[in-house]
Amino acid sequence: MKSKRKIIITIAVCLGLAALAYFAWLFPFYQFESNDFETSLQKLMSWEYIKTLVPLFIIAGLAAAGIVLVIILRKILAKNSRKKTRFADVRTSIPKGRAPKQKPALFMAVRWIIMIAFAFIMIWGGLIFGLKMSSMSIPVLSCPWNTEQMTESSCYYLAHLNELFELPWYSIIAFVVSTFGFTILLGRAICGFLCPMGLIQDIMDRIRRRSKAEGIKMNEKMYGALTPIKWCLVIIFIGLCFAGGNFCNFCPAVATSPILAGISTSLYVSGFIMVLVLMGGFFKRRAFCTVCPLGTIMGFFHRFSLFRIKKDCQSCTECGACYEACPMGIKTIYTERGKTDVTTESCIMCGECIKCCPEDNALSMTFAGKKIYTSSRKKIMSGYAPDKNGREEK
Ligand code: SF4
Ligand code: SF4
Ligand code: SF4
Repeated sequence: MKSKRKIIITIAVCLGLAALAYFAWLFPFYQFESNDFETSLQKLMSWEYIKTLVPLFIIAGLAAAGIVLVIILRKILAKNSRKKTRFADVRTSIPKGRAPKQKPALFMAVRWIIMIAFAFIMIWGGLIFGLKMSSMSIPVLSCPWNTEQMTESSCYYLAHLNELFELPWYSIIAFVVSTFGFTILLGRAICGFLCPMGLIQDIMDRIRRRSKAEGIKMNEKMYGALTPIKWCLVIIFIGLCFAGGNFCNFCPAVATSPILAGISTSLYVSGFIMVLVLMGGFFKRRAFCTVCPLGTIMGFFHRFSLFRIKKDCQSCTECGACYEACPMGIKTIYTERGKTDVTTESCIMCGECIKCCPEDNALSMTFAGKKIYTSSRKKIMSGYAPDKNGREEK
């Protein structure tokens, strides 16, 4: 009975996504400005630029309203129902006092700096520095409709394979070598370090933590329920162009990087999905990444990546902190008892599991065999260091 329901839900979700894709194809709604490839900072300081940002303000406003609405709804549900649902499983009041704060890890600081710098390059790089490496394609979800990209995002041609083969042969070679070169070399570390959509979601997560709003915890069942959606999106991403459609018509990245680069767009389907991505990213870290088709495709090559997550099963005390911290819900990182290499296709190399692991060297990240980040009890305990008056933080 349960599996029957699952199949019906999966079919309904797939049909819903297909209907949305068809609707977005019929009504693409984009009005892109023609680009004069000017290299100018003046554009970013003009009144015209502020006007092109209006759709983004609307998206941010709708997402903020949606988030407030969900928080209120959760509080009402939590108050009214003794049997709390996962959705409403919130503390109605936030406990007073400061949570233990670890000393910031160098790895995390470097990751944030790289993410911000790369988003800057993908969005405004061409406008400021010129289109220097625009024949090089990096597999990130940063809309290449933004023709100001200093280096191109590969998602357009991956979603339009039919058009790729119409390019001159040297462009095809440049695309294949750079896209697959980066994917094979870095794997999904691209998601953890380079993708601007990843940065946006991490920022939403930071905002939630700062605002002390409770997130939505996902269990294995919920991750499992997302699997058919993920595969359905991969099929639509790669196959829609052959059926006469266009994935870009409802991709959330369209509603961000072109607008930020000052290219005027109207917001409809992509804008609506971006609102959901922002809301999802607020309540669940990297919510969109769990179903992102580009990320899933990059995951196919994870075996070749130079970035690896290693586990010393002897040092592991099975506390489960790594699983709790993982934004992609990877359970093997915690359950693995034999293998040293615990890298999986979903791992975005964010390092959260290592940051939260309380055992020395139980988890580490390596690049080309060299350890670049490792778990440390001392770092975890630094959050409980006595304050100036000798009291321990609680
Ligand atoms: S999963 Fe998709 S959206 Fe997330 S970081 Fe990777 S490419 Fe970007
Ligand atoms: S396994 Fe660790 S590094 Fe990989 S996604 Fe999960 S928390 Fe991030
Ligand atoms: S956090 Fe570290 S010690 Fe705890 S289960 Fe994970 S690997 Fe083992």
